[in-house]
Amino acid sequence: MKDTNCIFCKIANGEIPSSTVYEDDDFRVILDLGPAAKGHALILPKEHYKDVCELDETVAAKILPLGAKIGAGMKKSLGCAGFNLVQNNGAAAGQTVLHFHMHVIPRYEGGPEMVTWTPGKDEEMADTAAKIKSAL
Ligand code: AMP
Ligand code: ZN
Repeated sequence: MKDTNCIFCKIANGEIPSSTVYEDDDFRVILDLGPAAKGHALILPKEHYKDVCELDETVAAKILPLGAKIGAGMKKSLGCAGFNLVQNNGAAAGQTVLHFHMHVIPRYEGGPEMVTWTPGKDEEMADTAAKIKSAL
């Protein structure tokens, strides 16, 4: 299914031009218009899924291998030392475009800190784990 109001559906299916680095039957991989680092790419499924919870399992199984392929290509071609695979679900998690996408962010030696957090402490860890477990 495509969503006619979704910009990533239009980009993924070639209706809007993009800087495409890879395409197959299921995905288009494009450069992010507001890159966190040079080469920052987005893996877009050609079908519309709002987030990871809606993803078709067959499509989902192809995303990590594709992320690895793109990241390895970035290391060879751009000279980055590593890369992050980042994926946001819901506005509270920073998702701004409601069409599933996986960020592939090249990381360069001496580059800026990103995708980081300050470790905290959960005093009710057993209760927290039990709550999540009971909902699965
Ligand atoms: P997220 O915050 O995870 O939803 O990420 C959305 C990403 O899409 C951001 O990094 C934006 O810079 C990027 N973005 C938004 N519109 C476009 C577009 N038309 N072409 C390429 N990247 C886009
Ligand atoms: Zn879409």
